[in-house]
Amino acid sequence: MRDRDRAAQVRVAVIGGGGTGAALLYDLADRGFACTLFERGELTSGTTGRHHGQLHSGARYATGDVEIARECAQEVTVLRRIAPESIEMNYGLFLALTEADEAYAAEFAAACEAAGIPARRVTREEALRYEPRISPKTRFAYVVPDGTLDAYRLPLQFFASARARGASVRPFCEVTGIRSAGGSVTGVSFYDYERRQERHSPADVVINAAGPWAEKVARVAGVVLPVTPAAGTMVAVRGRVCNMVVSHLHPPGDGDIIVPQRGLSIIGSTQWETEEPDGVRAPERDIEWLRERADDLVPGFSGEPFHAAWTAVRPLAGRSVEGGRSLSRGFTVVPPGTGAPAGFYSIVGGKATVLRAMAEAVADRLCGDLGLDVAGRTATTALRSHRDYFSRKTS
Ligand SMILES: Cc1cc2nc3c(=O)[nH]c(=O)nc-3n(C[C@H](O)[C@H](O)[C@H](O)COP(=O)(O)OP(=O)(O)OC[C@H]3O[C@@H](n4cnc5c(N)ncnc54)[C@H](O)[C@@H]3O)c2cc1C
Repeated sequence: MRDRDRAAQVRVAVIGGGGTGAALLYDLADRGFACTLFERGELTSGTTGRHHGQLHSGARYATGDVEIARECAQEVTVLRRIAPESIEMNYGLFLALTEADEAYAAEFAAACEAAGIPARRVTREEALRYEPRISPKTRFAYVVPDGTLDAYRLPLQFFASARARGASVRPFCEVTGIRSAGGSVTGVSFYDYERRQERHSPADVVINAAGPWAEKVARVAGVVLPVTPAAGTMVAVRGRVCNMVVSHLHPPGDGDIIVPQRGLSIIGSTQWETEEPDGVRAPERDIEWLRERADDLVPGFSGEPFHAAWTAVRPLAGRSVEGGRSLSRGFTVVPPGTGAPAGFYSIVGGKATVLRAMAEAVADRLCGDLGLDVAGRTATTALRSHRDYFSRKTS
């Protein structure tokens, strides 16, 4: 039997219908696995539907978090190739506004080069030609290949492509138990909110892609998985104050990126740890503070018509000290191990920008563990349109 046919005998349950789960479902279905995804709410209703929407070139992380910086740099190229309809490639400007920023510039440029991120230094005048509304305090800037991604359409492209390869998607189905026998996974129990009943689904492999809820889901399987849910507020005003992603040239901090998204401009974000990822609200003090920080980058931001303020919760792998900024934005594949039934995997951490690479890492690991020689193809195959998700066409 060919390895792809052997994969078809393996039933995989993916838990979590955010970007990571979407990309994973697609990768697994493309390799031939029989897979079903369970999402407790609407698709992308977790962190994925609420983030900043920046397609990270990796420059933000280059000085402190080099692994994820490299991953981002590679994935920008990949996503531009496979999902152009979900991406606006508007590039980014890192502004040096102070003496301290000037001093940081050499380290930034060297780190970008080491991570394979093209960063071009431009004069104040050139930066102002690109973005006339940036701070007049700008001393110089770097242009990097940042962009914006559509937080909803990109996952839908993966879902549509997964379904075209035979995968099933079950929104409004919350996994409540991991079933096992003889130390191996045998399926999942889930509550179906549409039918209003508890149900079961057989599976040989279960993959936990529940983002900031991954620790809770792992606990259901008897697995201790440290995840730090780190909440952040963002504020949007109407209109585009800039067309490029505008960032402050300093080590990553709060309130230092403005992302233009369609007809809005979004400043983000703050960050604090929370024990419970559900129902986190944007604190009033964050909203005012963020608008003031936005004015430092683009004066007049706070005077634009207010559109919305909201929060999302980062799924950071590991246990944090000091609010989460110290934790890497990298991702980890957690294979079955002590306490976990055979066949139970988790994927934690990461960024929306690297969702495809995260999925590929899990699928590679699973194939390796099962002794299946089925290579991933998602880096080179164009995704279906997000519109296909809304139709029943499969070819
Ligand atoms: C403030 C902020 C700004 C950010 N900005 C950016 C950015 O600009 N660019 C970028 O690349 N990244 C950004 N990120 C990071 C990015 O948003 C996340 O890394 C990414 O969205 C995580 O996706 P996910 O699929 O892993 O998690 P999620 O999208 O949270 O998906 C997990 C899903 O699991 C579901 N679930 C939970 N429990 C169960 C269960 N028992 N059964 C079934 N389903 C379950 C949840 O409902 C949820 O939909 C930002 C994050 C934050 C917090």
